[in-house]
Amino acid sequence: MNKDDDVRALGGASTGEVPWMMLALGLADRAAAMGEVPVAAVAIAAGSEAGSDERCVGRGVNLRETLRDPTAHAELIALREAAQALGRWRLEDVTLFVTVEPCAMCAAAIGQARVGRLVYAAVEPKTGACESRMRLLDGTATEVVRDLDMSGRAEAQMRAFFSDLRADKGVVVASDGEVAELVAGA
Ligand SMILES: [Zn+2]
Repeated sequence: MNKDDDVRALGGASTGEVPWMMLALGLADRAAAMGEVPVAAVAIAAGSEAGSDERCVGRGVNLRETLRDPTAHAELIALREAAQALGRWRLEDVTLFVTVEPCAMCAAAIGQARVGRLVYAAVEPKTGACESRMRLLDGTATEVVRDLDMSGRAEAQMRAFFSDLRADKGVVVASDGEVAELVAGA
């Protein structure tokens, strides 16, 4: 399925913020189905000419378990894909939509990439580095926006994932402390 199909499948117009966050939430559901903590990111480039449509140039889901890679966070995967698609590392014209508040590693990478705008849904009280534990992007060129309309949905997605995991294993999952605590504290 290509990116355009994804957007259509979610009924999204290509403008406005909710459809892009809906796309990210849909991707996060797929990550959960793979046994990954459901975090997803989509990178949207503004149209290059006045009036041209913005488009999805990068997508990422958390793949730490699948790739056995501690750096395989959704945001980094989406940023890499966007940079490759656009042929440059500076992403000033890109808005990154993420289902959960980025961690310090990802927030730093977002700053390094000069991402124009970051929009995230759920806060991450333990590791969030945009408002919760740190504010790494304050004073940078990246505008940070919390998507309040979608935060409840993203939080529910996390809760459902850990609740299913607990039900499957019959134990409290502690392997992913940052999100487990978010769930436990909710
Ligand atoms: Zn991260």
